[in-house]
Amino acid sequence: MSSSPIASGPLARRNSRRVIISHGAREIVVGGGAPVMVQSMTNTDTADAIGTAIQIKDLARAGSEIVRLTVNTPEAAAAVPAIREQLDRMGVDVPLVGDFHYNGHTLLTDYPECAQALSKYRINPGNVGKGAKRDTQFAQMIEVACKYDKPVRIGVNWGSLDQALLARIMDENAGRAEPWSAQAVMYEALVTSAIENAQRAEELGMAGDKIILSCKVSGVQDLIAVYRELARRCDYPLHLGLTEAGMGSKGIVASTAALSVLLQEGIGDTIRISLTPEPGGDRTKEVVVGQEILQTMGLRKFTPMVIACPGCGRTTSTVFQDLADKIQTFLREQMPVWKGKYPGVEAMNVAVMGCVVNGPGESKHANIGISLPGTGESPAAPVFIDGEKKMTLRGERIAEEFQNVVLQYVESHYGQGSHA
Ligand code: SF4
Repeated sequence: MSSSPIASGPLARRNSRRVIISHGAREIVVGGGAPVMVQSMTNTDTADAIGTAIQIKDLARAGSEIVRLTVNTPEAAAAVPAIREQLDRMGVDVPLVGDFHYNGHTLLTDYPECAQALSKYRINPGNVGKGAKRDTQFAQMIEVACKYDKPVRIGVNWGSLDQALLARIMDENAGRAEPWSAQAVMYEALVTSAIENAQRAEELGMAGDKIILSCKVSGVQDLIAVYRELARRCDYPLHLGLTEAGMGSKGIVASTAALSVLLQEGIGDTIRISLTPEPGGDRTKEVVVGQEILQTMGLRKFTPMVIACPGCGRTTSTVFQDLADKIQTFLREQMPVWKGKYPGVEAMNVAVMGCVVNGPGESKHANIGISLPGTGESPAAPVFIDGEKKMTLRGERIAEEFQNVVLQYVESHYGQGSHA
């Protein structure tokens, strides 16, 4: 086959080390070319073991492959083993990561069952301690991680950057014949903090394949610049996330803009979307957005995708939006069961289109497609299966009937004994 001048797809994945995060028999591979993993974080009070376990179950059920929770007080540390047990009883084997700031050395030492129950520790080098205490407290946390054979994430955040290190880098900069900009100094401080602390952890006896790095900032261009440099200067796996991304569409757009550039360049081994939930909003949205970034980029497949047109003046009723929404929700809700029962179903595409202009064409490209009637068209909805028109739906029950068509397709194409 001759090669086309038009190529698509991300650049080759960055060659990073491979870190395993495990709980019981469940092993999550991070880095070393493994698929990019989706993480999330709880926002419950960790001391509320039941409330936290329920939220973790929801996040895991939505598809979060690693869940982080804050461990900020003795009560929270004491609750961690109970949370783990509760999850195990519910059959939720998602690995848990403890997020430590300021008192992590004390909590991990005083609560060995917490240290044991967690599958990974997140250490923020800017919040480990000040002055002489810093090195001792950092070493204490690394010692506990080595003792229980747990990986760590050295997670730098520009909101809590190690001030002593920043001062050192500013001094170095002042000595330059042509000093760098304040922005460049900040980037250098973030990257240096991550790499130097990882090297320090290795000097303290931690294996190099137990360390993941992150350098979170809240600006899209800043994040891209920092991670490109981090990727250039080390081979530790990288956790990506735009910190404090914000609410609603702004948070989603900013995270997608930043992460997709890096992922396209082969940078990033786990991701988290730091959305601020709407009041009363669903925490699992951050998981859905993370999955959708990876799936729409063609990096992973999680759930069948619905292709829907935006609608226009040719669609005068809400039938078409309702149907697109119902089908997308239905498909996502089925996935926890379908994942085991119908292997490969996550790659299925369903098209829901609003009129005859692009409806039949787009529907033919999908596994299953429906083209609803636009204004002035006869009230009939042709259904296409694997590119061929197979039936026409009419009347009030189009949504239910189409859902049944989708179900039958899934059973016949992805069920046991099928040859899809
Ligand atoms: S397919 Fe029809 S209804 Fe949908 S956007 Fe295109 S013209 Fe409008």
